[in-house]
Amino acid sequence: MKVLFAAGEAVPFCKTGGLADVAGVLPVALKGMKHDVRVVLPKYRDVDVHAYGLKPLDVVLRLPLGDVVETAGLWEGRLAGKVPVYFVDAPKYFDRDGLYRDGNKVDFSDNDDRFILFSRAVLETAKALDFRPDIVHANDWQTGLIPAYLETLYLLDAFFLPTASVFTVHNIAYQGVFPKNTLFRAGFSWSDFTPDRLEFFDQVNFLKAGLVFAHGLNTVGPTYAREISSNPVFGRGMEGILSLRKDFIGILNGLDRRIWNPSKDPHLARSFTSANLAARKDCKTDLQREAGLDPDSRAPLLGMVSRMDPQKGVDIILEILEGFLKEGIQAVFLGSGDPEKKEALRGLAKKHPGRAAVVEGFNDPMAHKIYGGADLFLMPSLFEPCGLGQMIALRYGCVPVVTPTGGLLDTVEPFNGEKHTGVGFMAQRPEASAYRQALAEAVSLYRSDPAAWRGLQQRGMSLDFGWGKSVEAYVALYERALERKRSIPR
Ligand code: ADP
Repeated sequence: MKVLFAAGEAVPFCKTGGLADVAGVLPVALKGMKHDVRVVLPKYRDVDVHAYGLKPLDVVLRLPLGDVVETAGLWEGRLAGKVPVYFVDAPKYFDRDGLYRDGNKVDFSDNDDRFILFSRAVLETAKALDFRPDIVHANDWQTGLIPAYLETLYLLDAFFLPTASVFTVHNIAYQGVFPKNTLFRAGFSWSDFTPDRLEFFDQVNFLKAGLVFAHGLNTVGPTYAREISSNPVFGRGMEGILSLRKDFIGILNGLDRRIWNPSKDPHLARSFTSANLAARKDCKTDLQREAGLDPDSRAPLLGMVSRMDPQKGVDIILEILEGFLKEGIQAVFLGSGDPEKKEALRGLAKKHPGRAAVVEGFNDPMAHKIYGGADLFLMPSLFEPCGLGQMIALRYGCVPVVTPTGGLLDTVEPFNGEKHTGVGFMAQRPEASAYRQALAEAVSLYRSDPAAWRGLQQRGMSLDFGWGKSVEAYVALYERALERKRSIPR
């Protein structure tokens, strides 16, 4: 199959969250199954042309935006040395600090124009390169217009006649909602501004465009798929559309095991495996030193690597952490995002020097050190589509303590001391008192029963979070999307 994969971010080029991890590895896994995959990304300022050896192509894309026609260039690189990646070069829109937000964490005011332009550029790239895809795979609101374009502006374009679209929801909380005049800048007409198409409470909703028009539709976990199609708290207004799409499914993300591998991780002070967990102690010492914590090998060390966003349950941590710190527990936080939450955590760290530390910003080496050196991984999400943090933590022998939602329910089997099963701890409810209890149980086991703890770590490390089954599920989704497209009467 020929697949054109479009996303707002992909590892290693640019990243704000889990979407980038998926976009950096799923295309490579598809290529491994002999599919012809190409990726399209915006050429942000963050994308390091020299580090990745990107080359400009002799191509000019003409991209209508309202009543003007913008132009964009294309640069080419490779993902994992084998998947071609095309970067849409439109400096006016992408050559600035930040992917979707400015330095003050405020969304760029022209995000609608930026991703109208990018979405059209994805389709025009296919034409410019004469790459006629069977599937265009769009992801999240940034590329939500693509499935809509294929069923409207490009419907009669012979180039795309055999092409079906697939849309993947990585997080339904971000929808790309813009004023209604965006409709015209995107090239649509009033007849598209209806509740069963692009309109959402008198505004234009890019994510909804993907949900309505895609020939194949999924999200990144079976529990999240159920949550967002049945419950308005999770579905954020999209539950109605999703409940009508009987073909909507959940496919769990995998990990890129080339990047997340404790036996070969250049960021760790020492490599380790489940058979050699003693070596992990050196990673803990190294983490304590790097984070400015006391060198105390016996103190249970809590770690958190997260966007500082209400979704991630930082408020739960703020409510319960101090009690644990007073009992001799240590904690290290790595976070980018919400300045207020970071400030509150910093306040706690100041009050408990040597016991709590906050590392700010997006810091990949530090993330590896936390997964490899902390004893427990904090992930008290209020909702979690799939979640990569808990899977990475499991692979690194860092025992996750989670809330019962979405992908955390799909991936973290709770510890059962009698049956010697389970890989982590799960709060009864996604709230502070229940999470406190789960964390207290975890800390108590850590302190009282090293053998049971080691068993817990080893079971987690042996789980297969690779892409094997998930890639097969995506290929099956592509095939169903093609069937659906063919079945639509023209
Ligand atoms: P989300 O996509 O909602 O942010 P996930 O758990 O699915 O959450 O994925 C988060 C990814 O981003 C993980 O790979 C995690 O290690 C990484 N990450 C999050 N915050 C940071 C940070 N401040 N520095 C480095 N990596 C981070």
